Amino acid sequence: MSLTAQIHVPRLNKTLTVPTGLFINNEFVPSVDSKELIHAINPATEEVLASVVAASPKDIDVAVAAARHAFKTTWGKNVTGFERSRLINKLADLIERDAQELAELESLNNGKPVKVARDFDIGDSIQCLRYYAGWADKIIGQSLEVDNKSKIAFTRHDPIGVCGQIIPWNYPINMWSWKVAPALAVGCTIVMKPSELTPLTALKLSELVKEAGFPPGVVNTVPSLGPVGGAALSSHPDVDKVAFTGSTITGRKIMEAAAKSNLKKVSLELGGKSPHLIFESADLEQGAFTSVLANKHVLLRVGLIPNWDTVAGILNTIYDKFLEILVSKVKATVVGDGLEEASGGGPVVSKGQYDRVWGYIESGKAEGAVAILGGEKRNSKGYYVDPTIFTNIKPDMRIIFGPVLSVGVFNTEDEAIALANDTSYGLGAGLHSNDANQCMRVSSALEAGTVWVNQYNLLNNNVPFGGKKQSGIGRELGSYALEEYTSVKAVHWNFGEKLDWPL
Ligand code: NAD
Repeated sequence: MSLTAQIHVPRLNKTLTVPTGLFINNEFVPSVDSKELIHAINPATEEVLASVVAASPKDIDVAVAAARHAFKTTWGKNVTGFERSRLINKLADLIERDAQELAELESLNNGKPVKVARDFDIGDSIQCLRYYAGWADKIIGQSLEVDNKSKIAFTRHDPIGVCGQIIPWNYPINMWSWKVAPALAVGCTIVMKPSELTPLTALKLSELVKEAGFPPGVVNTVPSLGPVGGAALSSHPDVDKVAFTGSTITGRKIMEAAAKSNLKKVSLELGGKSPHLIFESADLEQGAFTSVLANKHVLLRVGLIPNWDTVAGILNTIYDKFLEILVSKVKATVVGDGLEEASGGGPVVSKGQYDRVWGYIESGKAEGAVAILGGEKRNSKGYYVDPTIFTNIKPDMRIIFGPVLSVGVFNTEDEAIALANDTSYGLGAGLHSNDANQCMRVSSALEAGTVWVNQYNLLNNNVPFGGKKQSGIGRELGSYALEEYTSVKAVHWNFGEKLDWPL
């Protein structure tokens, strides 16, 4: 088969070219033993955009061997931090150059609006690469006094080695950068497995990796089905670390595979059920606006972000007023084909996800939740789920899934905290209040890896992100992510002590 596809996009009056092979050793190649293909679908039209090679376990072996060879010869400890920094910066420049086309491809395959992909996801990814390019020559250990006259110890933060990176479909470019940037900065090599639902932009980014000048084998890209390529990476005896973003159920499998193979290091960014509390002193207009902006991701984007299972809890005295403002903000946003400039939200990513979300909405309705906005299917092509707001929810209902906001009521601060923490997850949480003491009390009490005060869902590349409880292990972003990709070596150095023998 040809290892390139042309995607003609009449709406844009252009043809996009995408590689469709496996990217190993800086070349796009066919599978060594399989004819399996992955069909990338446009969720707005339900049509196949391109079919790409699906990596088999043997292909994963080849990619891991390429990454190992590069680690030992042209990357890892064989290249200075200055050089790693230069190449990562170059990659960021190339992504900036191609931002519009990458955003169009992301929108076509994932459904999110082009402007969201370009101005948020890709803008943030460029910054992420530049942030870690800055770290590449600042990987420092400690010098430790042992005995001033005869002994010293010091630590080196070595690159951990070959990293398997497994990412989901909701932020294909963004999750790629969060994983690739810190790994490259410290000197690791990579075998990247994008989601089988959204393989196209990872392949397009691979072209830029080569153009930037990275040596062959430093970054390898292997689209594959999760239980095939993802499982092969997680259990591979020559992979030193797996970094994963996705569902808790898959995270558990990856940890088990790591434990049963070579005890490789694992970092997991998993699902969440993230509460958002609105207190009496909150600026309701701003609070609702922020909720919509925040929930623009939840309600309007493609229906899934890490903190997607959002539950808003609102103090009962301000409940009606807040809800009225919130509904008006959500109603004002257009959900349509991501290629339309006016679209503020797009379809959900796939038929599977569409059916899943509608299943949850229907079960919520059957259990007595009331949809005050959305909750009705469209009669047209595309996997659309219009933003839905449910009230009358109970904690054990399963409707909180997809572009759906569930709104509940609380009466006291203690009750709000108890409700917010009554979950096995702990990814994100937020509160709106203008009472500084309350902000401090509640943010301290919320059990989550990230707490937002008077904003929601906004992240910065220099601030760590990750989950507590069953929302994950380890941290991405900030200096914390460097720890995920390094191994600390202690060197004990004797420069004066002589042992008497026998002791
Ligand atoms: P998923 O777990 O099904 O898939 C994620 C990735 O794992 C895909 O690349 C998939 O191919 C791979 N995979 C599937 N089975 C595997 C296996 N047995 N071994 C190894 N890899 C395997 O999740 P999804 O439905 O694609 O993504 C949505 C989920 O991701 C949601 O639960 C969401 O909350 C979560 N998520 C979390 C974060 C975060 O930062 N914490 C960010 C984005 C998404």
